[in-house]
Parts: sequence; structure tokens; C-alpha cells
Amino acid sequence: MTFRAPVSEYEFLLNTVIGFEQIAQTDRFSEASSELVTAILTEAGKLCDEVMAPLQRGGDVQPAALENGVVRTSPGFGKGFKAIAEGGWIGMSAAPEQGGMGLPMTLTAAVNEMMSGACLALQLAPLMSQGQIEALEHHASEALKQMYLPKLISGEWTGTMNLTEPQAGSDVGALSSRAEANGDGSYAVTGQKIYISWGDNDFAENVCHLVLARLPDGVPGTKGISLFLVPKFLPNADGTLGAANTLGVVSLEHKMGLHGSPTCVMQFDGAKGWLVGPEHGGMAAMFTMMNNARLGVGGQGVGVSEAAYQQALSYALERKQGKTPSGFIADHADVRRMLMEMKADTYAARAILLACAHATDMQTATGAADWKARAAFLTPIAKAFGTETGIRVADLGIQVHGGMGFIEESGAAQFLRDVRVTSIYEGTNGIQAMDLVARKMLDGGDMAHRIIDEIEAQAEGARATHPNMGEAVWQACESLRETTEWLVEQDDLQDRFAGAVPYLRAFARILGGHYHLSAAIADKGGPREKLARFYIKRMLPEHSGLLTHVQEGAAGTMALTLEELAG
Ligand SMILES: Cc1cc2nc3c(=O)[nH]c(=O)nc-3n(C[C@H](O)[C@H](O)[C@H](O)COP(=O)(O)OP(=O)(O)OC[C@H]3O[C@@H](n4cnc5c(N)ncnc54)[C@H](O)[C@@H]3O)c2cc1C
Repeated sequence: MTFRAPVSEYEFLLNTVIGFEQIAQTDRFSEASSELVTAILTEAGKLCDEVMAPLQRGGDVQPAALENGVVRTSPGFGKGFKAIAEGGWIGMSAAPEQGGMGLPMTLTAAVNEMMSGACLALQLAPLMSQGQIEALEHHASEALKQMYLPKLISGEWTGTMNLTEPQAGSDVGALSSRAEANGDGSYAVTGQKIYISWGDNDFAENVCHLVLARLPDGVPGTKGISLFLVPKFLPNADGTLGAANTLGVVSLEHKMGLHGSPTCVMQFDGAKGWLVGPEHGGMAAMFTMMNNARLGVGGQGVGVSEAAYQQALSYALERKQGKTPSGFIADHADVRRMLMEMKADTYAARAILLACAHATDMQTATGAADWKARAAFLTPIAKAFGTETGIRVADLGIQVHGGMGFIEESGAAQFLRDVRVTSIYEGTNGIQAMDLVARKMLDGGDMAHRIIDEIEAQAEGARATHPNMGEAVWQACESLRETTEWLVEQDDLQDRFAGAVPYLRAFARILGGHYHLSAAIADKGGPREKLARFYIKRMLPEHSGLLTHVQEGAAGTMALTLEELAG
């Protein structure tokens, strides 16, 4: 089945639901007219359909391999990456002075999502570079920016991020990689990093690693960590490549999916690198990259969700089984339920993703603290809900296929195997949810309440035209408000953490209801209204059970002793 980038869906969401024109009205993004948006989405869609989607299957069956210390990428991936680079897609939101297009992150999020649906394993490569570009733009010295940014943006060089070590996964502060000053402004970085996405490739001239390591006077924990830019080949002053650095790929991980993306164990042996940001200020710099990547990973989930839905729908319109009006399984009520859930959730997750990107752009354009807080609040929701949606929809996609879903040739299983990691990397979804109920509520729940107020105001307004839907969303908001009040009153963080994941899911469910309601209002009597009704009547009520779970606190969750758990 052929993937089709959902260009018109994006146009609807941007123009009618998310309020993209607000971004285009700022000085910073004044060039992002609706004509330009359409042109960009259409052009990116073509690349997805014609160049990237055909690479999806090959990446799975002919994985990246390590040969004599060099990564050989899956067939066609080199050409695919070049096409992405030549289209300017890596530097879409990067600074124009360095060769970027300076476009809003909202558009980059849309394009990244479409690319993820076409070929997730390949899309991860430019995503890594984009994160590095943003981290360097914000935190690197002028000299580093001049040397690295143009090449990363053009795709001549690629970027990676190196946080994880065997004993330091979610607990990044436990890392043991170290760095020492060489006395000439550079540093010697030593240590082993695991699970490094696109740690090497055979299509870029140079691979630039952002590596977290500790200087000799760095205190234990995250406060003592610094960030270094460590290239595979050391550039000469004129940007040409010099000697190979003392680093390499030790091995590639054998994974359940995402086979086209080489996941590397990296060894740094006194490798030459340069400080990014201040000494011991590495986490702040890395967070710039991680926040960018979290939005990107949320989009990966949505992209795969879209692709899995398209494939399941296509199968359901071909497969004959049992008696239905059309003869095809798509007319069975239970198959239709699955397709509706897939479509409704893909829409909800996409709208949340775009709302988060929109807040990020408004923060960039205005510098306002309110937009910053909103983007920060929505990021864990966009990441966790986007990726959970990808997994759930891919799983439903297999079910729609029946036995064929379990047979690899159908491609349905690959979506699930590929997307499964997205709820794990870039901070597990558990860590995202804890971030939401702790750090993102240091304001006493102010941002949460402001978003709840907005949804309620919309639901109130919708009562005139959509009384049942408006009422359902309003009631859901009231429950969310009450639980949010309960949550911020819990001084023992364990009580918040025990319900963090259900809280995040409930918040996302209700945000989804809000955006579906917008679609219903805009498309009265049309298919979007019907889809919204399905979501609001049948999927939104899930919030109630989730919020009940939250208010139970930690006691019940921790009730069984470790011995009893094993009993
Ligand atoms: C395919 C792939 C690609 C990756 N790419 C990169 C990359 O490019 N760069 C990079 O640096 N890393 C990368 N990673 C690593 C990834 O970010 C980590 O796997 C992830 O952060 C989780 O760390 P961990 O695997 O050590 O799990 P752990 O931290 O051991 O977590 C295990 C479980 O415990 C939970 N947990 C851990 N700590 C807490 C806590 N404090 N409170 C509550 N629950 C907790 C987690 O949520 C999880 O469910 C990649 C991983 C994979 C599989």
C-alpha cells in the first residue's frame, strides 16, 4: 500500500484549529504566509510519498550493519538522506544566516511527522541533526557556530546526541564519561555511550557528536555535567576535514524494530572536543536539544499512526470476509470501530503536537514567559500522547489485518515494531508524566488551570450549536480541574508520581476533545463533526477512570511488598 502524506489534514488543522495565522502575524515569522505553508507541505509531501516511503520496507529487512568499524546504511538511505538535505528540510527552522530557512517550528513539526509516517528509521537521522543545530544555535561559541552550523544544516555533516551510558539511562546524572582540558581551548573526552541513534553513517562526510561528560571538578549528579561537541573527523580552520578523532562505533544494537536506524555503542578515547555552553552547564544546553527532540519524537508517533491507519483502511477495503453491504471487512461494526478510533486518535495527537509547536513558535517570536510556560507544559503531553497513539494505532492496525497483521510481508507489524521505542527514548513516557506533575506544576498548577479555562470557555460557547458535545467536554474539564487541584496539594511527590501517567493521558484525552470540538464547529454536518462525535461520546469518557486512578495516590500502588509482588 502506498503512503500519502496528509497534506490537506495539516492545512485544515493549521488554518482552522491551531491558529497558525497568529504565528504568521509576528515579525519573526511574517513570511510564513498560507501560500508558503501550502507550498511547503505539498513539496514535503512529494518527498515523503516518492522518495522516503519506498525505503521503509528495505530499512527493515536490510538493516544497517557495522563493517570494519564503519556503519553501512540500508539500501537507498544515503540517497534518501541527500534528498532530504537538498530540499533544505534539515534546516527548516534553523537561522537563515547559517543557511537555514528560519521557518516556524510548527511547520517543521508537520514535515517531520509526515516523514516519520513515510520512513521512521531514516527520518530519525535529520531529527538528530535538527536537535543539535538548535542546541548549538543557543549555546555554542561563535567559532563553533560558524564551523558546524552551515554543514549540519546542509546535511554535509550529521549530528547525534550522546547521553546514555549503561548505568545512566533515565538517571543521566549517574554518567561516568569524563573530560579534561587540553590547555588549548579543546578537551579530551573519554567514556562509553550506548544506544546512540545514527552514531555513524556512510553518507555524510562527518558525524558530530554532542556528548555529556564530567570535568574533573564537576560535582556528582546533573549539576556537574558539561556538554562537548566531538566530531568524527577534526575539521581544519577552513572547514575541510583533517585527522580522524579517537572515537568509534564498538557495535550496533540488535533491536525489535527501527532496523534502518543504526543504534550504536560509541567509544570515546580522549577524543578531541569543544565545550558547548559553560562548564558544568551541560544539562541546560542538552535540554534545548532534548525539548526539540521530544516534540520531534511525539511527531514520530503521530506519523506512524497516520501510516498504520492508511494501511489498515486500505486492507479493510480489499479484504472480503463475512456478509457486509460492501462485502469488505470495513463494513463490520467492530472493524469500523477500530478504524474510527485510529482516525480519531491520530487527529487528537496531531492537534496536540501542533498546539505545542505553535506555543514554541510564539515563545520564539515574542519572548513572552506565558508562551514559554505553555510550550513547556505541552511538551511532555505531546511527546507521551503522540507516541502512545502511534503504538496503540499500530497495534489496532495489526488487528484490522487479522492474521495478515502478524505476517511480516503485510508491513503492519513493522509499524508497531518501529514505533514501540518512541515511548522509551527521549525520556520514557513515565519520566514525561512525572515532569508534567512535578516540574511543570511548580507554578501551583497555574498553566494547567489556564488551559482548562480555555477549553471550558470553548465548550460553553459550543453549547449553542453542539449542546451534547459541548456539555461532555465541559464536564470532563471540571473533573480535570478538580484532580489538578488535588494533585498540586500533594506534598509527597510519590502521591503525584503514582498517578502521573493516567493524569497525562486524561489531560491529553480532554485536549483531544477540545480540538475535535473545534473541528465539529468548523465542519457542521460534515465528516469532521461525525468523527468528533465519535471521539467525544466514546473515547473522551476514558478520562473519568484515569482521573479516579490519579486521586488514589501512591498507597495502593505501593501496597504489595516486593516479596508479595514476587509471590
Ligand atoms: C533505539 C534506541 C535509540 C536511542 N537513542 C538514543 C540516543 O540517540 N542518545 C541517547 O543518549 N540515548 C538514546 N537512547 C536511550 C534512551 O533515551 C534510554 O533508553 C531511555 O532514556 C531510558 O533509559 P534506560 O533504557 O536506561 O531505562 P531505565 O532508566 O533503566 O528505565 C527503566 C524503567 O524504569 C523507569 N524509571 C527509571 N527511572 C525512574 C524514575 N526516577 N521514576 C520513575 N520511573 C523510572 C522508566 O520509566 C522505565 O520504565 C536510545 C534508546 C533506544 C532503545
